[in-house]
Amino acid sequence: MTDIPAPAIRLTGLRKSFGAVDAVAGVDLEIADGEFFSMLGPSGSGKTTVLRMIAGFELPSAGTVELGGRDVTRLAPFERDVNTVFQDYALFPHLSVVENVEYGLKVRKVAKRERRQRAEQALAAVQLEGFGGRKPAAMSGGQRQRVALARALVNRPKVLLLDEPLGALDLKLREQMQVELKAIQREVGITFVFVTHDQDEGLTMSDRVAVFEAGRIAQIGTPEEVYERPASAFVAGFVGTSNVFSGAVATALFNREGTFSVRPEKLDIVAGEDGNGVVAEVIYAGPITRYVVDLDAGSRVVVVSQNRAPATVSRGQRVRLSWHEEHVVEIPTGEMERTHA
Ligand code: ADP
Ligand code: MG
Repeated sequence: MTDIPAPAIRLTGLRKSFGAVDAVAGVDLEIADGEFFSMLGPSGSGKTTVLRMIAGFELPSAGTVELGGRDVTRLAPFERDVNTVFQDYALFPHLSVVENVEYGLKVRKVAKRERRQRAEQALAAVQLEGFGGRKPAAMSGGQRQRVALARALVNRPKVLLLDEPLGALDLKLREQMQVELKAIQREVGITFVFVTHDQDEGLTMSDRVAVFEAGRIAQIGTPEEVYERPASAFVAGFVGTSNVFSGAVATALFNREGTFSVRPEKLDIVAGEDGNGVVAEVIYAGPITRYVVDLDAGSRVVVVSQNRAPATVSRGQRVRLSWHEEHVVEIPTGEMERTHA
């Protein structure tokens, strides 16, 4: 018999209701040991509630939470080998950085020498060597976020839960932290479960992503699978920009019935009087230009074009849009109704 290791996290039939609100309406999920897993979805779709049930801050209305094969559904947070990093990471202002990081170890009565050593290691893991003596107020936002991360890593949990931890940072810093977080995760080998409503963030760091919609998982896959093969109109629209075609327009464009999606960067645009649409807007954005085109077939689409050469298409011009058949993704029917229910 082969010995298959238990997943780091297994959620089975997980539900949580707050009065009449079904915050989590049936989630089944397995997250592998060492995986960087993201939960991506709009505000209110149940991501935080799932995270809180994994951490033990919230008791499920139904279903089970297993960590490393052990049913922990009814265990208290401190009985689970899990740590959480929240968006408002609230460092102690009167303690130095290293004292903040070792605080949890102190509470657990780890000897002074050992806890200082582990705190220094955790600070090194987040590239903050030499910052231990500072007060949090003397650190930048990105540095404080890394202290919060070190404070969780120092406990060496099997699983680290991160709830929109980069939400308070400006865009540049957030993008930098995304790259660093991924590197840190690879280095420490801890399972990361990362919650975000930001699709770029979800795609950037993750081994796999679960897209949440109204308390359920609409799709699970690698970032590429979720982006290139959205399982529903909701996923196509939430993860990236998508042109979705249905009804008579779809039949006119693709010669078959159904609902189809084509990503903006998969469309080619050239000027031409014998075209199939008219340019309604041209939005120049540095590396790319975004064209909004009204197709004769009766649909407005977005085209993204890389600015490798000066643009030759302008507003009001007739253009021909073309695409490769392999980039036309059929979206399973019946999903449109559910999306807007
Ligand atoms: P997300 O993190 O995806 O934004 P949440 O898990 O925070 O979503 O919330 C899911 C739904 O549950 C929302 O409708 C929210 O208002 C509701 N909810 C969450 N926590 C509570 C609570 N403690 N009491 C009542 N409703 C809640
Ligand atoms: Mg949330």
